[in-house]
Amino acid sequence: MEAIHTVEWMKQVARQARAEGRLAGLVPTMGALHAGHLSLIEAARRASSPVVVSLFVNPKQFGPSEDYTKYPRDFESDRRKLEEAGVDFLFAPSVEEIYPPGFRTSVNLEGLADRLEGKIRPGHFRGVATVVLKLLEIVAPRFAYFGRKDAQQASIIRQMAADLNLDSEIVVCPIVREPDGLALSSRNRYLSSAERKAATVLYRSLLRARLAIEEGERDTMRIASAMRRELAEEPLASPDYVEVVDAGSFEPVVRVTRSCLVLLAVRFGATRLIDNMQVEVTGGGIICTI
Ligand code: AMP
Repeated sequence: MEAIHTVEWMKQVARQARAEGRLAGLVPTMGALHAGHLSLIEAARRASSPVVVSLFVNPKQFGPSEDYTKYPRDFESDRRKLEEAGVDFLFAPSVEEIYPPGFRTSVNLEGLADRLEGKIRPGHFRGVATVVLKLLEIVAPRFAYFGRKDAQQASIIRQMAADLNLDSEIVVCPIVREPDGLALSSRNRYLSSAERKAATVLYRSLLRARLAIEEGERDTMRIASAMRRELAEEPLASPDYVEVVDAGSFEPVVRVTRSCLVLLAVRFGATRLIDNMQVEVTGGGIICTI
């Protein structure tokens, strides 16, 4: 694996791969790698070569009171994991390389970015979309891989890729979970052991929603209430939102009659966790994927 730190060299290497007719796959990450990231790399390795993993803690997607400076960083351990995972190129630029002095352009998103995560974290998705667009321009991969764990982010990036006629296909991969159901996240390491135990309540509340849907419940208010009741049983959990939205538009839905996402965000002390379940409505019935 070759580690690349400059935009110019990354572009050069990617250009060369394209000239050889190869289909590059890009996995954007902020590091502190875990099995969730590795699952995206495995998906990339199945369909693309070379596999490029970017590692960049993007200051523009953190709010002023968020954890940018204390976000976990462990370059050496990440580098080893990527090497073992069979990654071809690690793209790890500095902040100045991505945002040189005088940088002033950003991606303006409408609608989708102001709801849910975007409402609680103003400017977050503008920062995400701006850096992802830059990475897609630098690497110009045939495929770019994202996790459904961050469902709103994946949806915004898909929308951006379509709106801006980007050549990269956006691939969204399943959520990887701990054996007890907690979705893997770099932020899980902030949890105290009591909070870590309590955090399984996100999964339990999604199970509760799945059960309700499987038993025939279609009213999203009642589904969300059942989830809130589950969350209320966990004293360390303070829910930010529980919502059922259309899978495409992210607008709230009243009844589960078309494909949707059940989303929740919950705080445990200073740590905020998100999770979701995908509900697909097909001719043959309803499939709930947690
Ligand atoms: P991050 O480093 O947190 O920005 O995440 C990089 C990518 O990994 C994003 O596309 C995330 O959605 C994805 N990801 C994070 N956690 C998981 C997980 N538990 N399962 C699958 N993908 C994940």
